[in-house]
Amino acid sequence: MDEFPASLIESRLRENFAQLAMKREAACKRSGRDPRHVQLVAVTKSVPLSVVTILRKIGLTHFGENRPQQLIERAQALADPIDWHLIGPLQRNKVRAVLPYARWIHSVASQQLLERMGRVAGELNLCPKVLLQVNISGEASKQGFTPDGIRREWPALLQVPNVDITGLMTMAPDTEDEEIIRTTFRGLRHLRDELRVDQWPLSELSMGMSHDFEIAIEEGATLIRVGSLLFEGIP
Ligand SMILES: *Cc1c(COP(=O)(O)O)cnc(C)c1O
Repeated sequence: MDEFPASLIESRLRENFAQLAMKREAACKRSGRDPRHVQLVAVTKSVPLSVVTILRKIGLTHFGENRPQQLIERAQALADPIDWHLIGPLQRNKVRAVLPYARWIHSVASQQLLERMGRVAGELNLCPKVLLQVNISGEASKQGFTPDGIRREWPALLQVPNVDITGLMTMAPDTEDEEIIRTTFRGLRHLRDELRVDQWPLSELSMGMSHDFEIAIEEGATLIRVGSLLFEGIP
């Protein structure tokens, strides 16, 4: 890393970001969407803080981490107004530490966790933006509510105070098969359409990563979580 000058890292990041923005735009065009409604969350879990600083300089403001501890450390290190997104699993005993720093939590996968967040957020006078993670593909390895589980618990979930349930999140299976990926993302959108009510429009759909964000955009993603594609060519 040391022999790789920061200026070179910066020009690679600018190039990668420009290409990503072009792909985002093209996917929006294909599906009649406004690119301003597709927010990039740069997933920085695998790069050092120095790279996050450069991304910040380039103009990115939404960053995703999958470990609460790393998110907290980075949020403390970078005082700028940044929207931090926790995208990985959250243990109940980490809720109090992470809530002051994570404006968005994408990975709320149980009613108990949501209730714990509501209690703690109330004590801290916060109201985090929450996305409920749903396991659309049904893979045993994936976290999240089952579609039937979330339908059943929906009335109770909406009663939890001090959390802004702003949308749903999912991960597609790790496959090259575009139809499987598309079906997963479409399934999340349909579930959202089914659950939304006037007071809870559930406007956010967090779906799509480096290899499938274009399909996700075509299927309605409003938050794409992209890591490795942004960091191509950076050692
Ligand atoms: C790491 C990660 C991403 C980003 O994945 P890339 O393939 O690097 O773009 C997105 N979402 C979650 C939940 C992740 O853990």
